[in-house]
Amino acid sequence: MDLLRVFRQFPDHESCIEHLESVRWGDFPSCPHCNGSNVARKADGERIGRWNCHGCKASFNVLSKTIFQKTKIPLQKWFLGIALVLNAKKSLSSCQLARDLDLNQKSAWYMKMRIREAMVEDSDAFLHGIVEADEAFLAVDGSNPRKNNRNDDDPPPRGRGTKKLPVIGAIERGGKVVAQPSPKVTAKSLHKFLKRHVDGGDSVLMTDQFPAYRRMGDWVPHFTINHAVRYVEGLIHTNSIEGFWSLLKRALYGQHHHYSTEHAAAYIVEACYKYNIRKSANPFADFIRGAVSV
Ligand SMILES: [Zn+2]
Repeated sequence: MDLLRVFRQFPDHESCIEHLESVRWGDFPSCPHCNGSNVARKADGERIGRWNCHGCKASFNVLSKTIFQKTKIPLQKWFLGIALVLNAKKSLSSCQLARDLDLNQKSAWYMKMRIREAMVEDSDAFLHGIVEADEAFLAVDGSNPRKNNRNDDDPPPRGRGTKKLPVIGAIERGGKVVAQPSPKVTAKSLHKFLKRHVDGGDSVLMTDQFPAYRRMGDWVPHFTINHAVRYVEGLIHTNSIEGFWSLLKRALYGQHHHYSTEHAAAYIVEACYKYNIRKSANPFADFIRGAVSV
């Protein structure tokens, strides 16, 4: 959804609350503490959207137990911030978000972290069909240089204390992607990750010939491509996951010159989420639905 539409549709705090109540509860508001439905709107007009639960006697609002809980940032800024983050092709720095929304940088950073929290919830995909798996190595700053198990074709890291963060990932061809940082890229870590995210009974796995993938055939049909010889052999290739790695690297390297391992992990979440909603007709509505479905 474009910014102007968000701005027009949600001109104030009340309209945002009303929208969240309708998405979260529909016609059946319930208490987030005890799940009881014996609830009533508070009568005082001053604090909008407050409810009382007659079951557990708690007071609550639609923001309880969501990423918006106890926020001091106006909801309209949240909605615009979500639209900005979702619209950003690469990523959006919290400095940029602070400027766009007239927030201080701390608030913008907090908002961005919370938006990513909601993205984490939504990025735990289970893949089927033709699934490609691969690893990437991201250059991140740090004081403990760590030796990588594998080289890749990134430019050499610059500066003292630079290390590369291994990331493991899998993609359903034409579908969703999952990726996460992994301190080590070993047969054990790859097996654990892939077994969690790939439907072994209903998939075919494609990888390169990295030895750590050797035993994958034990639980899923497995084909490998020898990158020393060629990159595509009919259906056997890893072009989709490699395409995702280039998106991820562009998002990372395009925004900041210095980022920590922790930030890189957050970028990975954001990049996966955005990739997975690429076909959505209304990413904003999908995000809001996800953010309040607690
Ligand atoms: Zn209750």
